[in-house]
Amino acid sequence: MKSAALDELSAKLGCEVRLNEPLSEYTTYRIGGPASAMVFPRSAEDVAAAVRFARETETPYLILGLGSNVLIADRGFDGIVIRIGKGMDRLERVGEGTVWRAGAGLPTPILARRTAAAGQAGVHLLVGVPGTVGGGVFMNAGAHGQEFGRVVREVKLVDSAGEYRTLKGEEIAWRYRASGLDSNVVVEAVVELEASDPGELKEEVARHLRWRKAGTPFTQPCCGSVFRNPSPPGTSRGAPGKTAGQLIDAAGMKGFTVGKAQVSPKHANYIVNLGGATAAEVLAVIEAVRERVLKEFGIELELEVKVIA
Ligand SMILES: Cc1cc2nc3c(=O)[nH]c(=O)nc-3n(C[C@H](O)[C@H](O)[C@H](O)COP(=O)(O)OP(=O)(O)OC[C@H]3O[C@@H](n4cnc5c(N)ncnc54)[C@H](O)[C@@H]3O)c2cc1C
Repeated sequence: MKSAALDELSAKLGCEVRLNEPLSEYTTYRIGGPASAMVFPRSAEDVAAAVRFARETETPYLILGLGSNVLIADRGFDGIVIRIGKGMDRLERVGEGTVWRAGAGLPTPILARRTAAAGQAGVHLLVGVPGTVGGGVFMNAGAHGQEFGRVVREVKLVDSAGEYRTLKGEEIAWRYRASGLDSNVVVEAVVELEASDPGELKEEVARHLRWRKAGTPFTQPCCGSVFRNPSPPGTSRGAPGKTAGQLIDAAGMKGFTVGKAQVSPKHANYIVNLGGATAAEVLAVIEAVRERVLKEFGIELELEVKVIA
C-alpha cells in the first residue's frame, strides 16, 4: 500500500487506524506478519467507509473478527484489515420474546452465556467457539448440533460497494461451515432462540466446556479444526462416517511436527503452535497430513481454516 493512501485513510475515517500492525496479535494462532493498515470500526458506518475507501483506491481488504479461524501469511497482508470487535459488540433482546439482536463484534461465547442465562436455548452449545458473531455467521460456525444457520433470522451486511443490505435467514445459502456471504461484511445478526430452563442450560454449558477442556488442546494457540469433515457425495453436511480427526489419527499423523507446528496429540484435527511457529510451518504440516490421508484412504481433505496468503 502506498503511504499517501495510508495517510488519506487515517484522515478519512472517524475510527482508529493503525499502520504496520502485527497480525499475530489478532489471531488465536499467534501467527501472521503485519497489515499495512488496520481499521477498528465502531459502527456499520465506519465499516462502510473503510470498504468504500478500499474500493476507490483499489486496495485489497480483509475482514477479521477474533482471528480464530484464519492462518495469515508470515509476510502479512498488503492492504487494509478491518477488525470487527469492540464498539460493534452490542447484544439486546428484542422485546420480551426469544429474538436477540447481536453486533458482529460480539464474542460468540458471550452470546451463548448471556442467552442461556436468560433461559433461551439455540446457541448455548457454541460457548466453546471462540470467535465473533460476524465470523460465526460468515463461517456458519457450529458445534454439538447447533449452528448459526439454524437460528439466524436476519443479517445486516455491508456489501463490496460499501452499501447496506439486509438478508433474511432463508435467503442465505447455509452449508456446512459456509454461508455463501463472501465479499459481504456482516455487521449485525438477529437470532431467534427457544425458551428453556436456565438451570438446565447452565449445566449443559458447563458440561460442554468441560468436554472442550478435556478433548481439545484448549490452552495452545490454534485455529480449532483445520479440515472440514469429509462429506459423502450428494450431501452438504459432515460425513456420518469418519471425521477428519479420526482419519488423520488413523493415518498415524498425531504428533507430526514441522518446526514449531504440530498435529495435536490430543485432537488430530488441530494443528497447534508450540511457540513461535510460522505460517509456512503450519502449511507444511497441512500438506503432509493431506498427502498421507489421500494415500491411506483416497480422501482429499478440504480446509476449514481460511488461509490468507
Ligand atoms: C480452540 C478453537 C475451537 C474452535 N471450535 C470451533 C467449533 O466447535 N465450531 C466451529 O464452527 N468453529 C470452531 N472454531 C473456529 C472459529 O472459532 C469459528 O469459525 C469462528 O466462528 C470464527 O470467528 P472469528 O470472529 O474468529 O472469525 P475470523 O477467524 O476472524 O475470520 C474467519 C473468516 O470469517 C471472515 N469474517 C470474520 N468476521 C466477519 C464479518 N463480520 N463479516 C464477514 N466475514 C467475516 C474472515 O474474513 C475469515 O474469512 C474454533 C477455533 C478455535 C481456536
